[in-house]
Amino acid sequence: MIVAIDGPAGSGKGTVASILSKKLNLVNIDTGATYRCVALKALRNNLNIEDKEEIIKLSNNIDIKFDLNNNVYLDGEDVTKEIRSKEVTSIVSPISSIVEVRKNMVDLQRRLGNSNNVVMEGRDITTVVFPNADYKFYLDATLEERAKRRFKEYQEKHIDMSYDEIYENIKARDYNDSHKEVGSLMKTNEQVYIDSTNLTIDEVVEEFIKIIEGDKNES
Ligand code: C5P
Repeated sequence: MIVAIDGPAGSGKGTVASILSKKLNLVNIDTGATYRCVALKALRNNLNIEDKEEIIKLSNNIDIKFDLNNNVYLDGEDVTKEIRSKEVTSIVSPISSIVEVRKNMVDLQRRLGNSNNVVMEGRDITTVVFPNADYKFYLDATLEERAKRRFKEYQEKHIDMSYDEIYENIKARDYNDSHKEVGSLMKTNEQVYIDSTNLTIDEVVEEFIKIIEGDKNES
């Protein structure tokens, strides 16, 4: 089974996917983490982010793994926390716009999805990675609400970014993520659209479960 969730940064995809994975016994794949690993490795290798050829080369030869607790491993090292840093967050969107990098990450995401029952979240899962997923969702919220949530999350995780920095970063990523040559974030008629702005996380999860279990009950 594949549950695919797309939506902008801070819409709650990560939290919802994590809860759904436990309730429905699915492996949770955070596809943003794959692009974050490429960005982290580029930073560590002191690559110029304008140097597409070097970044593509790096993405041809990168080992990214997930464990069942949503930890992320880059070339064998646990980088779960480091991929959320300000430095990575500020360069990940342009890096994920490079078509060849996307091809490599989409191949990896498909391999992961084909060998497990998964809930997979990102920007192009319902449209490019798994357009035939069993369930397709678009999770949304206003920019202000998303920046507020991310700010609270970062404070809890002791990641040093001000509300204004987060707001501007999300705004820039929204624009970039919806203007990509390939794999842009898009709303389609095939997704179930859920606006989480005024919902609690439990209410959002309930909406998802209603659709997934409702469908099961019908068949
Ligand atoms: O979801 P998260 O905010 O961690 O994703 C980091 C970045 O990776 C996004 O801003 C987006 O540019 C990119 N991304 C993508 N396609 C995906 C998931 C993430 O381009 N499927």
